[in-house]
Amino acid sequence: MTYRAPLADLKFSLTAVTGIERLYQSSAYPDFDGDLLDAILDAAGQLSEEVLAPLNRVGDTHGAKLENDKVIVAPGFAEAVSAFAEGGWAGLGAPVEHGGQAMPKALEMAAYEMFHAANMAFALYPTLSQAAIEALHHHGTERQKALYLPHLTGGEWSGTMNLTEPQAGSDLALLTSQAVPDGDAYRLTGQKIYITWGDHETRDNILHLVLARLPGAPEGTRGISLFLCPKYLVNDDGSLGERNALRAVGLEHKLGIHASPTCVMAFEGAKAELVGQPHQGLMAMFTMMNAARLAVGVQGVGIAERAYQQALAYARDRRQGNSILTGEKKAPIFDHPDVRLMLALSRAKIEAARGLCLLTAMAADDYRLNADARVKRREDFLVPVAKAWATDIGVEVASTGVQVHGGMGFIEETGAAQHYRDARIAPIYEGTNGIQAGDLVGRKLGDDAASAIELKEDIQSYIQNNSLNDNFKKSVEALEAALTAFEAASLWLVAQKKARPADVQAGATAYLKLTGDVVGGYVLLRGAVAATARLEANEGDPAWLRAKVELWKLYAAHILSHAQALQTAITAGAGSLEALSEGL
Ligand SMILES: Cc1cc2nc3c(=O)[nH]c(=O)nc-3n(C[C@H](O)[C@H](O)[C@H](O)COP(=O)(O)OP(=O)(O)OC[C@H]3O[C@@H](n4cnc5c(N)ncnc54)[C@H](O)[C@@H]3O)c2cc1C
Repeated sequence: MTYRAPLADLKFSLTAVTGIERLYQSSAYPDFDGDLLDAILDAAGQLSEEVLAPLNRVGDTHGAKLENDKVIVAPGFAEAVSAFAEGGWAGLGAPVEHGGQAMPKALEMAAYEMFHAANMAFALYPTLSQAAIEALHHHGTERQKALYLPHLTGGEWSGTMNLTEPQAGSDLALLTSQAVPDGDAYRLTGQKIYITWGDHETRDNILHLVLARLPGAPEGTRGISLFLCPKYLVNDDGSLGERNALRAVGLEHKLGIHASPTCVMAFEGAKAELVGQPHQGLMAMFTMMNAARLAVGVQGVGIAERAYQQALAYARDRRQGNSILTGEKKAPIFDHPDVRLMLALSRAKIEAARGLCLLTAMAADDYRLNADARVKRREDFLVPVAKAWATDIGVEVASTGVQVHGGMGFIEETGAAQHYRDARIAPIYEGTNGIQAGDLVGRKLGDDAASAIELKEDIQSYIQNNSLNDNFKKSVEALEAALTAFEAASLWLVAQKKARPADVQAGATAYLKLTGDVVGGYVLLRGAVAATARLEANEGDPAWLRAKVELWKLYAAHILSHAQALQTAITAGAGSLEALSEGL
């Protein structure tokens, strides 16, 4: 059950694949350079390996508990929360003026991959606080920023996102929580469910960001406002006042992430402040959600890496049968082609998903450097893909990890089962993966598929501008064929948009998969090209570098080869689904 921070892979992905060097000492990141990148990743790796990973199992078996109206976290978690705050991690990407360190999002996501891999239930607590920081930074008043943000970026307080209600999950238009004006504040009433780290005693205060309706608000999403509702009221000088009228009335019993308290929250006339303009809450919420969606994609990468490491160690140790690869009798199962393929494809998918998430984060960083509309379109287009494609890979790789263990994978003691159970939530929360696919083919593809066509053109230029040797011929042909399928599918979807919107939605999940497969292929190709250059220059560990090339070829053969089949599925239309309305 140990975890080794994949520092070399993360640094390679940040530099050789996503080109983070272009941010070094730039106008947006004046203090950032390669030494700082190394120092931050090394420290994040150490915290993950030494503090967070050892608590993963006890968190799973003990879980969080609700006792006498208080949420009690699993043993060791309160100390870990303190260590996280004291290490300055809560404000890693937050603006300097609010007490943060303003590091690039790509670096922040790389650090969070390790936190999630080490202990996903723990890492959810700062993830939600990050989202609260983003919302207040972009939509709060100067007073709110000055009063609240330093406590969040310093990690003394935590933040939550209160969207979901029993009747309002994917469809937030149905939410009914009410906020009634009371002097210069509001009184908030309603019930929220599934609130991650909604209550606990590990921090002095908790800032809840809550969606609710003002009296007389229009129906639907246009009538939703965002409120800030602290567990303890905050005086103007920043000191804490009386306990607010809100509490956790229940904790959910879940399949996984047992140490993350998932709370049913009751707001019983709690005092709250408006954040942003009345009825503009959903816009403010999208700021939080965009940040949180990428962070959830990174959870998928982290949990996959953890499950893969454990499966690899087991496969090298467990001996069964004679190896057809080495001729050895009673060989390690690693030496059977099927087992090695499971592990190799897992590793290829992890590196592809990591590259996709870091590329998405880099688009956000590039936009800070240069507010170019094309860069913003790229970020917006990739966010739902990073969220859904990477979390599906998290589940897939964790499931493969169980398979590699054989019967032992199904037995809780090995820990392989915990990764699988923990991974399963990521495709569900923060907008289900089906909702992400709908967003991709709807808003993100737009009416002219500009974002998709630009992406395809950029990948094509990369292929043309790099003289790729014969070793790459077959795999690059697979990527080019996948790009052709991607372009055709994108144009088909926008052509159906007005006349046959059901056809578009029926093809959404397959389109998201194809998009992820193509971008994953692109980042692996970039890695393989960079690795080849280093091999030719006799730099670095040759086995590790050669693996980058072979993983790319394997990915092209086993994953990109499905592109035409996906195109067929995307363009199949909704006819059969309509015909099945009675038959299922
Ligand atoms: C452990 C956990 C932690 C969570 N943390 C938080 C939190 O901190 N804050 C918070 O506010 N919420 C939180 N959630 C709630 C989570 O975001 C929702 O569960 C999720 O958005 C889905 O909503 P739902 O559960 O109501 O499912 P539903 O909306 O009922 O969806 C059920 C199924 O129908 C599909 N579906 C629904 N509508 C559509 C549509 N329009 N098009 C296509 N398919 C559709 C979905 O994809 C899904 O497959 C958490 C949930 C869990 C389980």
